Amino acid sequence: MADKNEQSNRDSAKLATTLVHGGRMRSEFCETSEGMFLTSGYCYPNAETAQARMAGDEPGFVYSRYANPTIQMLEDKLALIEGAEACRCTASGMAAISTALIAPCQQGDRIVAAKALFGSCTWILKNLMPKFGIEVEFVDAVDMDAWKAALSKPTRLVLIESPSNPLLEGADIKAIADLTHAAGAELVVDNVFATPMCQKPLELGADWVVYSCTKHMDGQGRVLAGAILGKKEAMDEIFDGYLKHTGPAISPFNAWVVLKGLETMELRVERMASTAAKVADFIADHPAIAEVRYPGRKDHPQYDIFQKQQTGGGTLIALSFKGGKEAAFKAFNAFEIVTISNNLGDAKSLICHPTTTTHRTLSDEEKAEVGLNDSWARLSIGLEHPDDLIADFSNALDKAL
Ligand SMILES: *Cc1c(COP(=O)(O)O)cnc(C)c1O
Repeated sequence: MADKNEQSNRDSAKLATTLVHGGRMRSEFCETSEGMFLTSGYCYPNAETAQARMAGDEPGFVYSRYANPTIQMLEDKLALIEGAEACRCTASGMAAISTALIAPCQQGDRIVAAKALFGSCTWILKNLMPKFGIEVEFVDAVDMDAWKAALSKPTRLVLIESPSNPLLEGADIKAIADLTHAAGAELVVDNVFATPMCQKPLELGADWVVYSCTKHMDGQGRVLAGAILGKKEAMDEIFDGYLKHTGPAISPFNAWVVLKGLETMELRVERMASTAAKVADFIADHPAIAEVRYPGRKDHPQYDIFQKQQTGGGTLIALSFKGGKEAAFKAFNAFEIVTISNNLGDAKSLICHPTTTTHRTLSDEEKAEVGLNDSWARLSIGLEHPDDLIADFSNALDKAL
């Protein structure tokens, strides 16, 4: 690479600048936009170089399952955005989270996790980890006494999500990090809902941050991608071999799409969050609605926690219909702009009904444990004009009366 962008790699660069320039490497062609290196392999000028590169004695790329220039630009940019020493990108958010859970653990280890998690995380913890002799205990993430009890035993890993899916509960990341470290464990935070703009788990004491870059980072519903961020030495030691040899590598094409998405992430997320605050207030006052959960509203049960650890209310809203599932479905079917989809963090406003879609496999008992029932919907606010969204909600919620 002819020009590695040192200037915007400085810690002092502001977020907007880092989002555009951070991690950039220019080839000898001096391209403006990041180069898309769609190549699986690399060549060597001679046999000695091949030997040295494969042995790691000489810098350079050897195979795209290990590393690739476009993917490295994304990893370097994300590390700068998060304030992390190191980042590894993967083919999806779940590839990142499953790596973060599996690679550090061995038989006999113990994991403590929040009860309310993204569905596939719960699946891994309930169905996969026990097969390898790893014990998993689930805790109500807002109950500090439950955390104290669960973390009174030696533990390897703790996994939380804040705000959580789908009801946007707020977990006290700093307090949980302290208990985690006292138990000899490391804290993994799934920061997808908050985005790196609203919350910095590493600064709050987390050891690892994981993302689905599929959401706000791409932000336009195009590709799957994931990332793990944390300390360099531990990253090399715990994750390097696992990632190289099990192969959850992201395609350079998808990495390039996320790089382009990141350039506008601050603008998009700020706009989406400001619209979300307006829409949440409108929905909360509508007679068809029993309850609204938005981290930026004072009536959220964990408002104080969000005030402490987030810089904004985010882009997601949970809403409960007085008329239950029937009323929710009537509203869903009446939307003209808001789209029914289980994705989130998209330019388009998306709404889903968790108990019949994303959370359909939870038992009644499991639903009750996380406070979920048929009345709830999860809404991801997009980039449409707030007035148009409010008009769409006004019309649809009237149908749910
Ligand atoms: C989407 C999502 C994931 C999974 O990411 P994929 O990119 O779909 O694999 C994990 N956690 C949260 C909170 C998510 O929203």
